[in-house]
Amino acid sequence: MANQNEQFKKIVSHCKEYGFIFQSSEVYDGLSAVYDYGPYGVQLKNNIKSYWWKSMVQMHENIVGIDASIFMHPKTWKASGHVDAFNDPLIDNKDSKKRYRADVLVEEYVEKIENKVKKEITKARKRFGETFDEAMYKETNPRVKGYMDKMETINTRLATSMSNSDLDDIKSLIEELEIACPVSGSKNWTEVRQFNLMFSTQLGTIAGEEGKLYLRPETAQGIFVNFLNVQKTARQKIPFGIAQIGKAFRNEIVARQFIFRMREFEQMEMQFFVRPGEEMKWYAYWKEARIKWHKTLTPDEKLRFHDHENLAHYANAATDIQFEFPFGFRELEGIHSRTDFDLSSHQELSGRKIQYFDAELKENYVPYVVETSIGCDRMFLSVMSNCLIEDIVPDADGKETTRTVLKLPPALAPIKCAVLPLLKNDERMTNAARDIINKLKFSFECYYEEKDGIGRRYRRQDAIGTPFCVTVDHQTLEDQTVTIRERDSLAQERVSIEDVERIVSEKVDMKKLLQA
Ligand code: ATP
Repeated sequence: MANQNEQFKKIVSHCKEYGFIFQSSEVYDGLSAVYDYGPYGVQLKNNIKSYWWKSMVQMHENIVGIDASIFMHPKTWKASGHVDAFNDPLIDNKDSKKRYRADVLVEEYVEKIENKVKKEITKARKRFGETFDEAMYKETNPRVKGYMDKMETINTRLATSMSNSDLDDIKSLIEELEIACPVSGSKNWTEVRQFNLMFSTQLGTIAGEEGKLYLRPETAQGIFVNFLNVQKTARQKIPFGIAQIGKAFRNEIVARQFIFRMREFEQMEMQFFVRPGEEMKWYAYWKEARIKWHKTLTPDEKLRFHDHENLAHYANAATDIQFEFPFGFRELEGIHSRTDFDLSSHQELSGRKIQYFDAELKENYVPYVVETSIGCDRMFLSVMSNCLIEDIVPDADGKETTRTVLKLPPALAPIKCAVLPLLKNDERMTNAARDIINKLKFSFECYYEEKDGIGRRYRRQDAIGTPFCVTVDHQTLEDQTVTIRERDSLAQERVSIEDVERIVSEKVDMKKLLQA
């Protein structure tokens, strides 16, 4: 655990030191759970968004995009159920005065038991070696079986009381499990209360409830209310999808863990409209497609599905793709079968028909929806967790040294190629380097740097994940060749200036990720 915490701290400080992410309004001591992306952060984030957008929109004839407004008619949120039900249960510790999400306190308790199971399994695997059968061990070892049963009982009870909004039972569960406040260590809790997560503001000069607007807590509703506009203008037939990337806002009760849980964040959502009765087929399809997308960036063992026991008011099946963040497995993306709940509710509240005529079935119906919803910021954090590495490399004298390197997939790297004149005082070198950049910049993002020794400049590029460094030296002036250094292998090759664009372009092309 200590190690994982260390890794998390390193990611946070690396993001700040190298211009990826800053605390919002830092000069005023910051605004809690709101963050700004810096020069390299915005590039990396844009590349993640582009990879998602291309995977969805460019790669599918039957998925189109939109960009809806953050403000929507207030009735939208009545119809969607957010005004009445977008709540989290909160609880306060009377001694520390700290506020918690009651369900998360229970989930963290379960996670501790899960960690004990993991430890037992690791020990047993060592003891039994090759012949170890994990499934059998979980069933037969009395201690582990006891842990597993306990987890299941707690999970089922939490799911039931969450579904029934039984706040008293959640409080009882916290008491029965003797959960203590991590800050004060006391079990002196208030009652559990519901807390609505939507931010509101006022429209124009209209005072009171009439003019009350919400900042959207999810991008999905902009897609639902535009369903017919898009279907007709893009001439789409069911099944088809609408994709969108945009900001969402949630007044989270506890907003810790850096960009994992923010009050202003970005979602990448796709709603896929299908025939009623075919939603489970498409739910299975999108589960498969989305995990495959993640696996192009993330090792298999850091990903898992977590099926929901506590279904949201609109869903008939739901799963999370969880990623192993430095603080444990947590939701990265949600895949939900949302039935016809949203379209039907908008139809009812607006009084307008929102239906699709299926020419094959010769029938009108309200389509069913399967949604994939991923937080762009959480994806950013998962990429950082995967790629920020310390490795041992030889220094200029051949001695082993530790370097910090961000091994980003080249297509996602903020800078694709740094061009470095060996000597900053030699105008012929600096001019040659500028000339190279002036050619390359039409194809990809470049970076010019002349300050400090070449070794330090390489290290700085490693730290921001630049896949290639091109160095202009004395020989360049004679024969128009440069050295090109590859970030991961550290291999340096002498190539003609003319070849640089091709070499870098091939490696940084997003096609590689899309074809994987
Ligand atoms: P959680 O259980 O962690 O609060 P959720 O189930 O409420 O998440 P969804 O409503 O399914 O999340 O939202 C879809 C995605 O949006 C999530 O998978 C997550 O990646 C992202 N997301 C949700 N809330 C936040 C937040 N406060 N900060 C950053 N990303 C978020």
